[in-house]
Amino acid sequence: MATTKSTYKAFINGEWAGTSTGETFGVTNPATGEEVARVALCAEADVDAAVAAARAAYPGWAGRPQSDRSKVVLKLAQLIMENAAELAELETREHGSPLRKTMNFDVPLCAEQFEYFAGVARAETGETLPVGPWATSYTVREPLGVVGLITPWNFPALMVVWKLGAALVTGNTCIIKPPTVAPLTTLRLAELATEAGAPPGAVNVITGPGGTVGEALVRHPGVAKIGFTGDTETGKRIMAVASESVKPVGLELGGNNAFIVLADADIDGAAEGAAFGAFFNSGQVCAAASRFYVHESVYDEFAEKFVAAAAALKMGDPMDMATVIGPVVYPGHRDKVEAYIEATKKEGATLLLGGERPSGPAFDDGLWVAPTVFGDCTNAMSVMQHEVFGPVVGLCKFSTPEEAVALTNDTAYGLSASVWTKDVRQALVMASQIEAGTVWINEHLIIFCETPWGGCKQSGWGKDLSTMALDEYTHTKHVYIDLTGAAVKPWYQILK
Ligand code: NDP
Repeated sequence: MATTKSTYKAFINGEWAGTSTGETFGVTNPATGEEVARVALCAEADVDAAVAAARAAYPGWAGRPQSDRSKVVLKLAQLIMENAAELAELETREHGSPLRKTMNFDVPLCAEQFEYFAGVARAETGETLPVGPWATSYTVREPLGVVGLITPWNFPALMVVWKLGAALVTGNTCIIKPPTVAPLTTLRLAELATEAGAPPGAVNVITGPGGTVGEALVRHPGVAKIGFTGDTETGKRIMAVASESVKPVGLELGGNNAFIVLADADIDGAAEGAAFGAFFNSGQVCAAASRFYVHESVYDEFAEKFVAAAAALKMGDPMDMATVIGPVVYPGHRDKVEAYIEATKKEGATLLLGGERPSGPAFDDGLWVAPTVFGDCTNAMSVMQHEVFGPVVGLCKFSTPEEAVALTNDTAYGLSASVWTKDVRQALVMASQIEAGTVWINEHLIIFCETPWGGCKQSGWGKDLSTMALDEYTHTKHVYIDLTGAAVKPWYQILK
């Protein structure tokens, strides 16, 4: 494995930059409690420096042919794979996500998504518009300028790529504000982007608290748009601050995602899918299956098989390639997850699995929460109503498909849901009734570069991934060309 640095500066104008505070903060491995690195603590002056660098880089980068920009992004994808072991280890150490996952999922997917954006941007077109024989008229997509990309900790690298891939390839210059608990892979990605040929100032990273550094980025008049992924409450705050300058924001916010098992479902397959959908990344996934609605006729069988599948997931040292469940990411987050467990116990749910910290020397120093399954839930219980964002789920019975849809829609969120059944007609009817950005049928969590990702209701708006992501970081310009050549057009008579 490659070694990693122990101190990181901010990354501004293509180089490691000293910051205005001269101070640093620590990044801690949640599996061991050890400090992984110290990172520069930025302040508003550093945001100003990053915006100045990005603005200076913008005309040159936006002015390059699309094929040139795509080649830089393609080279970045290649460099990610050449440095895959280092990136995977770095993410495992800063985040606690098992190396088995970071090596086999996060890092290759980062490369694949950059490849996708590099390719698909070259197929972007405008339209010619039928305005009459006296003119021709067309649209063209143009970059926005300097964009701020604010990302969460749950997939530290991948959440950057979703935004950076679309924003950079379309000609914007970017300032990334990574999560304070896990900023290291983002910093390394920015360095690799520069090595791939992104000019100085095209990819910048400022590190420090969202409340100061992030908010300064949102407020900055030199920033054209904010692409944000994170908590719904933070999204509301960002909307409010951005409104001061009428700045557009893309908001990928929280989720509370239903997993519906109909009476005719393949219960073995649903149970395996449930264990994956609920506990991948320790449940710290915006789209994690967290609310299970199971038809009363198959409830007991499903509960038994799901609990067996969840109990078989190996939790432990994230550096061990056999481990599939790591810790949760920081102490305050474990406190929050445990508070939901305690509240749901008090509300009268039946604890079917977990519910406590795993014990033993392997778990003494880290932030562990065992996969936890509650049965006999009502929709009013804490685990059903809130985004727990950890390895904790609730099971609730239903009688009719209509009731399952009503329970699913009984939430402020609208990110995703899944329906498990052999009756595809019934599944399609329910898909049309469910209020969510994505509905999977006989699957939960799978996401492709080619398919749009984003929610409705308080899960936000705008799309990451797919060609729709390119639209998020470009605006449509309409150009009108007079073909009459006449000095006085017929419609001027309205003033004459
Ligand atoms: P947060 O909202 O706490 O933080 C996200 C980012 O915003 C961090 O970089 C944070 O900085 C920054 N930030 C915090 N406050 C402000 C502010 N006032 N102004 C500007 N930036 C700010 O979310 P989490 O990191 O806890 O991520 C988990 C959340 O993300 C969950 O709700 C999850 O559902 C959601 N998510 C949604 C996805 C989707 O596609 N819809 C995908 C992945 C996650 P700092 O770290 O310094 O606090």
